[in-house]
Amino acid sequence: MKSGITKWCIRGNKDLDAASKFTVRGVLASIMENLKNDGRPTIPLGHGDPSSFPCFKTTPVAEDSLVDAIRSAKFNCYGPAAGISMARRSVADHLSLNLPYKLSPDDIFLTVGANHAIEVILSVLARPGANILIPRPGYPVYEARAAFSNIEVRHFNLLPENGWEVDLRSVEALADGNTVAIVIINPGNPCGNVFTHEHLKQVAETAKRLGILVIADEVYNHLCFGSKPFVPGGVFGPVTPVLTLGSLSKRWIVPGWRLGWIAINDPNDIMQKYGLVESIKSYISISAEPPTFIQGALPQILEKTTNGFFSNTIDILKEAVDVFHTKLEEIPCLSCPQKPEGAMSCMVKLNLSLLEGIHDDMDFCIKLAKEESVIVLPGAAVGLKNWLRITFAVDPAALEEGLERIKAFYLRHAKKQGELDADQIVSM
Ligand SMILES: *Cc1c(COP(=O)(O)O)cnc(C)c1O
Repeated sequence: MKSGITKWCIRGNKDLDAASKFTVRGVLASIMENLKNDGRPTIPLGHGDPSSFPCFKTTPVAEDSLVDAIRSAKFNCYGPAAGISMARRSVADHLSLNLPYKLSPDDIFLTVGANHAIEVILSVLARPGANILIPRPGYPVYEARAAFSNIEVRHFNLLPENGWEVDLRSVEALADGNTVAIVIINPGNPCGNVFTHEHLKQVAETAKRLGILVIADEVYNHLCFGSKPFVPGGVFGPVTPVLTLGSLSKRWIVPGWRLGWIAINDPNDIMQKYGLVESIKSYISISAEPPTFIQGALPQILEKTTNGFFSNTIDILKEAVDVFHTKLEEIPCLSCPQKPEGAMSCMVKLNLSLLEGIHDDMDFCIKLAKEESVIVLPGAAVGLKNWLRITFAVDPAALEEGLERIKAFYLRHAKKQGELDADQIVSM
C-alpha cells in the first residue's frame, strides 16, 4: 500500500458553533478558571442548582419512590416513546389541579428534563423561514436550540420598571406571518418575577391575535414567595394553544434525575388540527426517553410529596431573598429593580460609573471570582449587558457571606469621591 496522505471526509458540524457559543455553563466555566485557592470556600451564586446545600435536600418521598420503583423490577424495560401511561396520567392529574378543565394522559409527553422539552418543541416548530419570540433577559437554551434548528430568534424585552412584564407592544411589532410561538418563563428565570393572571391573559390574547402558540416554561411552578400566586399558563389554553414545560428539577431539587414534561393545553384542539401533535409524537419517537424507573416513581412523587416539603423550600427562599434584599442596599454599585417574588435568581443592575478599573459585567465577575471566590453570572450571558444574574437559592448563611464579600469587593474598587464623573456629581 502506498503511504499517501489520507484525505479525511469527516468534519465538525459548523452549525453547532453558533448554537453553543453562549451557554451559561460555558460562561461560568470561564469565570471559575479565575478562582484562587485562598482558603475560603467558593460561594456559587451563578448557577441554578441548589441541590448541594443540605437545606435544599429533596424530600424522602422522592427518594423512597425511586427506590421502590427500582426494587419492584417493573421498570427495567424500555418505555413507550411518549412515556409510560400511568406516569403521563399522574402529570395530567397533577397539572389539572390548577386548571379550569382536565388534561388527559394523551396531552402529556415525558422528556429528559425541561431542556429536552425545549429541544422537542423547537425541533417540531422549525420550518424554513420560521421565527420565534424569546424574552430578553431569558434562558439561553432557547437561543441555542433555535440556532441549531435554524429558527430565527426575535427578542422582546421584559420591562424592569414594570416588574419584568412582557413589553407586549414590541411583541406585536416583532411578529409576522412566519412567527410560530412566544416563549414566557413564569416564575421567571433570570428575573425572579411572577406574572399576574391579567398579564398572562394579555400575553395569550396577543398570541391569539398573531395566530401563534404560547410556550410557557414553568419549571419553577409554585415557587412563589411574594404577594402574587402562581397562575399556570394552561389556564389560557382556551384562548390560544399553550405548551407548558415542567420538570422535577427545580421544585423537587433533583435536576440530575432528568425528568420533565410537555403538557398540551389546547381544549379547542387547534394543535391537533394543524398537525403539531403528530409532529411531537414523531419527534419523540426518534428521540431519547427518560429512564423508565424514574417514570415509574413519578406517580408516587407527584401524589405523595407533602405540602410541608414545598413550604419549607419556600420559607428558605423567602429568608434568602430577605437577606439578599437587605445586604444589597449596602452595595451602592448594585441595584435590584424589584424584590424577587419567585424562582431562584434575579437580575441586578451594575453601576460601572461607581467603580474604578472594571470595564463591564464579565470583568466584574472575573475579578470578583479572583479576589473574593464568589461566582455570579454576567448579565450578558442572559441577554443584558452590564447587569448580573445572582442566584439566591443557596444556604442563607452562605448568601450573606457572599454578599459581604461583594461589598468588600465594591469598597476596594469604589471610585474615590473626587474622581466621580461630572454627571454623577450633578445627580447627587
Ligand atoms: C432549569 C431550567 C430549565 C431546564 O430544566 P431541566 O428540567 O433541568 O432540564 C428550563 N427552563 C428554565 C427557565 C430553567 O431555569
